[in-house]
Amino acid sequence: MDFEYTAEQLQLRKAVREFAAGEIAPHVMEWDEKQIFPLEVFRNLGKLGYAGAIFPEELGGAGLGYIEYAIVIEELSRVDGSVGIILAAHTSLCSNHIFKMGTEEQKRCYLPKLASGEWIGCWSLTEPEAGSDAAGTKTKAVKEGDSWVLNGAKTFTTNAHYADVCVAMATTDRAAAQHGISAFIIEKGTPGFRAGKKENKLGLRASATGEVIFEGCRLSDNHLLGQLNHGFVDSLKVLDGGRISIAALSIGMAQGAYDAALRYSKMRKQFGRPISEFQAIQHKLVDMAVDLDAARLLNYRAAFMLDRGMRVTRESSMAKLFASEAAVRIANEAVQIHGGYGFIKDYPVEKFYRDVKLCTIGEGTSEIQRLVIARQLLKS
Ligand SMILES: Cc1cc2nc3c(=O)[nH]c(=O)nc-3n(C[C@H](O)[C@H](O)[C@H](O)COP(=O)(O)OP(=O)(O)OC[C@H]3O[C@@H](n4cnc5c(N)ncnc54)[C@H](O)[C@@H]3O)c2cc1C
Repeated sequence: MDFEYTAEQLQLRKAVREFAAGEIAPHVMEWDEKQIFPLEVFRNLGKLGYAGAIFPEELGGAGLGYIEYAIVIEELSRVDGSVGIILAAHTSLCSNHIFKMGTEEQKRCYLPKLASGEWIGCWSLTEPEAGSDAAGTKTKAVKEGDSWVLNGAKTFTTNAHYADVCVAMATTDRAAAQHGISAFIIEKGTPGFRAGKKENKLGLRASATGEVIFEGCRLSDNHLLGQLNHGFVDSLKVLDGGRISIAALSIGMAQGAYDAALRYSKMRKQFGRPISEFQAIQHKLVDMAVDLDAARLLNYRAAFMLDRGMRVTRESSMAKLFASEAAVRIANEAVQIHGGYGFIKDYPVEKFYRDVKLCTIGEGTSEIQRLVIARQLLKS
């Protein structure tokens, strides 16, 4: 075991931190209030190799592992969770589904463009009536001659309105339930495929979340991703890695909230002393720091195992569950430490408080993570 970052990881962290401070921090509140999608920042992340961190160099990626990927998401989310979730949905959901399940031809066609940031990806599993119970997918794909014809609607898709390519799950054999769902790759501009309503959200407002609609959308067999009827099972494998990115998103935002609270506690004076000298405030800071360390260690363990090709269903669910719930606690205490100023938009913690809640919901709620972990525990 080794609990230290390598020199390369430290260098990566420094580089992403500087990028976030220079290109994201000055705009965070404006993007949040006006719901501006940071397209240019995404393109620049691509130019720096961060939009394809986990993919091999021959496919245009940076050839890094999940620990490095987690570091990138953490550092971006420490400044703005919206940028973190945009990159997470693009990389470990859309691009990774193509990387893990795609044919050589599909990988060569899509991954270089996605990894360079020239294209943005989105991944659509959730539907209005199929959230936690995603196997209840109603969107259907019917074979007509040489084509698949898709009809239906997905909801809550991150990047839906900006995506050049979408990976979406559709039912191909209704009688077979979760073993009758397949994944398809759909390019922007395909007739019968469009983004629908964009949601007006509590947090992560610079990211775009919304509907993806299929109306007689005709696709060739080349657009089937993975084996026919394996789309749902493949999605679960994709989510194993995706949960590491949601844990990293949680940790990054929690770190941002903690840093702000620590700084403020040393500066703010009441009763003639900095509030950091009160034991009640110190205990809050301690609990926040312990939560943060524990979340990071759980997530790096999952990332370490995934980088070695091990199955991480239990570990990534544990990391996601703990990190997201810890991040909600940390953001809450960060607001409390700021007192009334924590409620005001001049300070960064109110935004972390709003943004971080998504982490206990997206890519499987806390309740579903507990269900996944329980199944793993009872199996052994
Ligand atoms: C900002 C945002 C971005 C998102 N991005 C994406 C994306 O890019 N792609 C995508 O496919 N989806 C995305 N989602 C969807 C997200 O994954 C779902 O919202 C989530 O899985 C929960 O589904 P639901 O909203 O339908 O809630 P429901 O499933 O209706 O759950 C409601 C409540 O019931 C609980 N519950 C449900 N079933 C059980 C059970 N068996 N046992 C105990 N409790 C249960 C849940 O935990 C929750 O508390 C996004 C959502 C948001 C808000």
